[in-house]
Amino acid sequence: LRTRWFPSEVQGYKGLAELPFFEIQDGRLKVVVQDLPASIDFHTHLGMVAGPATIDYLWETPEVHYLIDCDGTDPPCTFDMTDYVNGIATEEMLAQMEREVLIGGLFGKGSIQTHTLPNLAAEMDDMKFDKAVLLPIAMNLLKPDDMTERWKDAVDKSEFKERFIVLCSVHPKDPDAITKLGHYKDQGYIGIKFHPMTQRISPDDEASMELFEECDKLGMMVFMHAGPTGIEPEIFREHLRMEKYVAPVETFPEMPFVFGHSGARDWEGALKIAMENENVWLGIHGQSVPHLRTTISQFDNERLLFGSDWPFYPLAASLAKVLIVCDGRKALRDKILVQNAQRLLARFLTTPA
Ligand SMILES: [Zn+2]
Repeated sequence: LRTRWFPSEVQGYKGLAELPFFEIQDGRLKVVVQDLPASIDFHTHLGMVAGPATIDYLWETPEVHYLIDCDGTDPPCTFDMTDYVNGIATEEMLAQMEREVLIGGLFGKGSIQTHTLPNLAAEMDDMKFDKAVLLPIAMNLLKPDDMTERWKDAVDKSEFKERFIVLCSVHPKDPDAITKLGHYKDQGYIGIKFHPMTQRISPDDEASMELFEECDKLGMMVFMHAGPTGIEPEIFREHLRMEKYVAPVETFPEMPFVFGHSGARDWEGALKIAMENENVWLGIHGQSVPHLRTTISQFDNERLLFGSDWPFYPLAASLAKVLIVCDGRKALRDKILVQNAQRLLARFLTTPA
């Protein structure tokens, strides 16, 4: 198989226009691959607010300020496609991200005001994405703990209702976890987002396992943030060890688990579990070009899902790597960008995605 040569690093996200797949048009990065399918992004978020703070999720702004803002520094950061995606961030960029997450989450101020539905939809249009799965996180810290309701409400009020699938989130240690999950199921939610770091709990914790058991009973799926990203506080890293993901996937073999970030820095650990458990799907967000190539050569490519982790990063950051790895392999590309996601979603949705 002959593949074209591509640069392994560019300057800033906008530097991705150096690749033959993208162009800058009207100041925006746009994909220019003619035969791309209408794709599905399985890993997106809106602005994450907690407690009394609010943002206008229906506001449209000319630019998005990503949480890892490669174009926001002068000069722009080096976007290195051979590294795990957060490897592009300087210390200063990571400190900036932490400040933005905090003031955004607590006060609804700063870059979070650009993490809105019209902004995500506009970027999906630029990148030829038809649909996206939104992943809220119940944090069990501040009341109201209602990110799920806020995002669903925004989607329902927007003009993009049919383009977004909102998962729900229940904190495993919420005393009403099981009741809340039942209500979500009744309202049509098809799965939960589980985040060991943000929720400060291990996947194999008794409370997590009880929640997964109920998801299994209700016929839902579980999207898990999987693996250490290397930038989280040390104290949470224990929850993210890939060994801790084995018990859930083995105990509930009929229920699909999506490993978001595909194990992140422990991609080999995640790959091993996915190869041994047919209910595990790899959400490939963040993985480098070399790691994607290895994964594709070793794994069942029917269980790979595209994700961007917007608004941490632009859609193009992940799309570029998939287009490089799948250059000359359209069938594989279309599985990763849309068909696998459609097949998984079809098990849960009454109308096809
Ligand atoms: Zn995420």
